[in-house]
Amino acid sequence: MTVVNERKSFGTTEVLKGVDLKVHKGEVVAVIGPSGSGKTTMIRTLNAMESVTSGDVLYRGVPVGYKVTSSGARKVVSDKELSRTRENIGMVFQQFNLFPHKTALENVTFAPTQLRKANAAGTTANAMAQLEKVGMAAHAQKYPHQLSGGQQQRVAIARALAMSPDVMLFDEPTSALDPELVDEVLQVMTGLASEGLTMVVVTHEMRFAREVADWVVFMDQGVVVEEGPAAQLFDNPQHERTQRFLTRVMATN
Ligand code: ADP
Ligand code: MG
Repeated sequence: MTVVNERKSFGTTEVLKGVDLKVHKGEVVAVIGPSGSGKTTMIRTLNAMESVTSGDVLYRGVPVGYKVTSSGARKVVSDKELSRTRENIGMVFQQFNLFPHKTALENVTFAPTQLRKANAAGTTANAMAQLEKVGMAAHAQKYPHQLSGGQQQRVAIARALAMSPDVMLFDEPTSALDPELVDEVLQVMTGLASEGLTMVVVTHEMRFAREVADWVVFMDQGVVVEEGPAAQLFDNPQHERTQRFLTRVMATN
């Protein structure tokens, strides 16, 4: 995926002020930065959950969620095209967003069933395989309220995986969890990374970013201040704002 000079305003407030980003196939990119720096807004534009005001978000060279007409105007694509995009680019949220009245298994089969990705038996078999992968097969018949936050988030990851996405986006997937539940989710994500899944992860988990990410992007006040390989960014940050941020989060981690 490629983001080029992305700008985004809400009303008169510009929250993304020219963001550039490259995500190579098979890479894990971690996005770090203080609260309010535009991380959520940016990651949501990667699968068109948020529109861009100007600049480009491209997946395989094609704009994500919009079309540029011959006159240069932007047009939102049809719902059908949007859902095709979101099949390729899955998302996991901070707040899990599971359907409360569906079991874990039903949460995972829901979207593939809507899209008739396979027959019912195939959809269920695939969903069970994804639940197995995140260590939740034994809880397939449970409802979200019967699961811990970490378990719910693992189901949410299985749900996204069930669409066989090429890219997975994670927006602070462990921030809503009690500290003792963070590792089980990070372990699942580490497994996905080692399988070569392309991932963009907004995170406050610096150890995860350092150990798992190929590339780390530091955002502040709507821009990418600094980016680089994890070891370089953490051991040898070049910008004063990066240094200040890292000092602060390391102190509280
Ligand atoms: P982060 O995820 O880094 O904390 P966000 O992308 O959530 O940052 O927010 C960046 C800025 O954009 C914040 O100042 C936030 O208040 C503002 N913002 C985010 N979403 C909206 C919205 N829908 N309407 C207006 N302002 C928003
Ligand atoms: Mg956020």
